[in-house]
Amino acid sequence: MNCIFCQQDSSNSKSIEHIIPESLGNKHHILWKGAVCDKCNNYFATKIEKELLEQPYFVSTRQRNYIKSKKDKLVKDKIVFAHPQGGTKVEASINAVFEEGKSILQMQFENDELFDKMLKGEVPEIYMPYIPMLEPNNYLMSRFLTKCALEFFTFIMGKDNFLRFSSEVIEDKQFDPIRTYARYGERCNFWPYSQRRIYSEGSLFVDLKNRKKHIYQIINEMDFLSIEIKREKEGENEIILGEIYFVMAIMGIEYAINLAGPNIEGYYEWLKTHNNISPLRKETEHQLDFNFPDLNPFIKMTE
Ligand SMILES: [Zn+2]
Repeated sequence: MNCIFCQQDSSNSKSIEHIIPESLGNKHHILWKGAVCDKCNNYFATKIEKELLEQPYFVSTRQRNYIKSKKDKLVKDKIVFAHPQGGTKVEASINAVFEEGKSILQMQFENDELFDKMLKGEVPEIYMPYIPMLEPNNYLMSRFLTKCALEFFTFIMGKDNFLRFSSEVIEDKQFDPIRTYARYGERCNFWPYSQRRIYSEGSLFVDLKNRKKHIYQIINEMDFLSIEIKREKEGENEIILGEIYFVMAIMGIEYAINLAGPNIEGYYEWLKTHNNISPLRKETEHQLDFNFPDLNPFIKMTE
């Protein structure tokens, strides 16, 4: 067996690759041992994912959505205690603890001074940072998305097919650009991607196909979008030329990247002709809106 990134023998590798890190709530999209070798797994974990998750947006969103780290810990974020007339301004770490049915904000003070100031009412206002989105064209995000795209392609192929066609997969040069960019940052300076919010954090959905009408939130989801560019006749055969985009949403923000090459224009064109609706949205999936009373019928249906 060979690693899909460095293409070295990975038969003795022990690590299991998560397409989206566990720290972003992924428990299901996992590749089998050896699909990604230990060395590449470790490289992505320490050089790409760890640094990406330390970006202020990811710290902020993981904190406010109670997404636990791999070690089952909640993320700490900086909060600011301040007085409206200025003066005292203290920063402290906060640890929000959420238990089923009750919501507790547990604050961990690094010094007693701040606690005293709070008791005396010197710092009556608390500010928690809310960073809505990663700044566009983030290099780490671009490397991360190319990594996820290739891994999800492997995941969809499945272990049996992958092993059966392993040598062909390795010899197939069409993924060389995305593979080398993801793993070594080579081939181009920046592989562009699309980023936009498609629903708010905490949005609730119900799948009308689901008989029990369970209501759920989506932490992350992913899929491929194939776009036909043109058809060509080659003798008897018709060849369809197209592009494949990897589309993923994490906490309501949709990211899309082209597997074939470093350009994203084709995706923007596709969106224009499809009313900007995300390819991730399923026809049977309905987003619940608390401003309108459409939640009630579904609650009745769950009984
Ligand atoms: Zn490798």
